[in-house]
Amino acid sequence: MQNNISYWEHSSFFADYDVIIIGSGIVGLSAALTIKLKAPSLSVGILEAGFLPSGASTKNAGFACFGSVSELIDEVRSTSEDEVLQVVEMRWKGLQKLKETLGEAAIDYHQLGGYEIFRHEDSASFDECIEKISYLNTRLASIIGRPDIYAVANERIAGFNFHNVGSMILNRCEAQIDAGKMMSALLLKVQETGVRIFNDCKVLNIHKEGSGHCLRTKQGSFKAQKVLIATNAFARDLFPTLDVIPGRGQVLVTAPIKGLKIKGTFHYDKGYYYFRNINDRILLGGGRNIDFTAEETLLPGTTSRVQSALESLLYQTIIPDQRPDIEFRWSGVMGFGDQLKPIIEQIEPAVFCAVRCNGMGVAMGSLTGQQAAELILQSV
Ligand SMILES: Cc1cc2nc3c(=O)[nH]c(=O)nc-3n(C[C@H](O)[C@H](O)[C@H](O)COP(=O)(O)OP(=O)(O)OC[C@H]3O[C@@H](n4cnc5c(N)ncnc54)[C@H](O)[C@@H]3O)c2cc1C
Repeated sequence: MQNNISYWEHSSFFADYDVIIIGSGIVGLSAALTIKLKAPSLSVGILEAGFLPSGASTKNAGFACFGSVSELIDEVRSTSEDEVLQVVEMRWKGLQKLKETLGEAAIDYHQLGGYEIFRHEDSASFDECIEKISYLNTRLASIIGRPDIYAVANERIAGFNFHNVGSMILNRCEAQIDAGKMMSALLLKVQETGVRIFNDCKVLNIHKEGSGHCLRTKQGSFKAQKVLIATNAFARDLFPTLDVIPGRGQVLVTAPIKGLKIKGTFHYDKGYYYFRNINDRILLGGGRNIDFTAEETLLPGTTSRVQSALESLLYQTIIPDQRPDIEFRWSGVMGFGDQLKPIIEQIEPAVFCAVRCNGMGVAMGSLTGQQAAELILQSV
């Protein structure tokens, strides 16, 4: 018997769900929405550890992107061209799905273009990238729907007022969103379908019980016939054998900047650094690559080493003539692994997982959630 849980609470809130999803990030919410839209009679609950969704979905940079040229070259080196193309397709389709589900206005979607910048000392990397532009444009044309995605855009450098930027590559199809508005709209949409979301409800363990599973939380135990793990970087807390390694990303946001010239999304150093305008401020994140070991952690927090690297890039290269205060600093944890594709599979009878968007879940999260939901529905 559970502690001080009334008969009413037990029968109306904790009782048997058809599906319980663990984690209310973009993946968990998208899975819940797909299940309720395709099978409205199924009861669906979401258990979330944080008082808000507390993973990467509310901590990210809001780039609606599918890869800069140097990032794609780097990804091909560590996996294969086929896998990279499949993942680019998932990112692109995921973004289209996100827009269709929530509408561009609700998520502040602006296709301002994306740029990859190269400092003078990065000319070798730029040379490698320009050699690949035409090839990538041809290979990605059928996925993205236009033949001229990437182009050298050095003539635009002066307009952004950068210092020491020698070259730039434009991605015409890249956009930005407001991640807070996106998650808030998605939560509302999911709740409208009748999904119950329980916050401050971390799942401590899962075990088989009768025909279903029992999920123990500090608030009490929930029961479900099917379970979906959508806890991303935290997946190994519940299933230690999953190939998901945490990678913390740190971010800062400046105070408003008068006459800010930077508009759009920008990548530097194979995607390890990224910045954008958010209204009249700059959001800048990254730097994980200067201390991979320290950043392979689930713990929240910022470090002076990474924050100093971000500030150097900000004040020396991005806005050399201004020094606004930094008004926000935060971190969020991504889930990485040996393969670029997310893990969307059944891991035990009646237990499924949809995790590891490899730092691109704004882009692929909706599709990842949808595909996990379809897998669950096939088994109902
Ligand atoms: C700094 C940063 C910048 C990024 N920028 C971008 C970007 O610009 N574009 C892009 O495409 N992607 C970006 N990403 C990646 C993207 O945010 C993630 O890939 C995506 O949000 C993952 O979504 P998710 O639903 O899988 O996981 P999450 O959003 O991490 O959700 C997992 C949820 O599970 C909950 N949880 C964990 N354990 C338990 C438990 N035991 N019980 C209950 N709940 C639990 C957590 O509290 C969390 O809310 C960025 C990520 C970070 C950190």
